[in-house]
Amino acid sequence: MSRFIDELQNLKLNDTSLVVGNPKGGCMVFRQSIAVLLLTVLSVYAKNEPHILPVGAIEALSLLKKGNDRFISGIVRTDGQAKEDIARLFEWQGPNAIVLSCSDSRVSPEIVFDQKLGEIFTVRSAGAVLSPSLVASIEYAVETLGSRLVVVLGHTNCGAVQCAMDTLGGKSAGSANLNLLVADIHPRIRGKVKQPSKNLETESWLNARGAAQDLVKRSDLIARAVTLGKIKIVSGLYSFTTGAVVFD
Ligand SMILES: [Zn+2]
Repeated sequence: MSRFIDELQNLKLNDTSLVVGNPKGGCMVFRQSIAVLLLTVLSVYAKNEPHILPVGAIEALSLLKKGNDRFISGIVRTDGQAKEDIARLFEWQGPNAIVLSCSDSRVSPEIVFDQKLGEIFTVRSAGAVLSPSLVASIEYAVETLGSRLVVVLGHTNCGAVQCAMDTLGGKSAGSANLNLLVADIHPRIRGKVKQPSKNLETESWLNARGAAQDLVKRSDLIARAVTLGKIKIVSGLYSFTTGAVVFD
């Protein structure tokens, strides 16, 4: 669906000056007219079904910030999770944002951003570590679902980052798999800190920003989407003391 809409947008935005002097100009104008008509129909449809088409990156970020404000205030939404919403989302989803966060039980993105069914596509791992399957999940949401915003969400006092700090000298993290996990974090913090910090905030920021950069490095699809302006990637940090998410 998103690729179809992108093609329609490209066709609609095609510079009409290209049509001048072009013997096929009439055909181009006709195709542009059809594109405008289809986009109009789709936009009307989207207003009735607000979660079918994701919003743009700036609006998506605004929705998350407003949701976090509601979470902090304690006055949260009660809509978006009724039987009608389950039915409405039966055939398709169009999440406004992709959130890559740590698996920490205290940092559930749907809760800290006060988001409901179908509104954010959540991918989680301890320390927001990037495995191939996790990167592929984000690629799917970008390419197939059309989400325009990717948020890499770290948090204060992250146990995974602490473990990575503790194993910088080569000490085992406890198992082969855990060693792989901290090995993904090590390059993001290695050489930038001399010794483990007690509050971990600086290191957690380094890890979140590094994961955002690594996401682009490890996925041609995501890198291309960023270059073309289809998606925006931002990093943020959730505070255990305030409940607030601060974005870069
Ligand atoms: Zn964590």
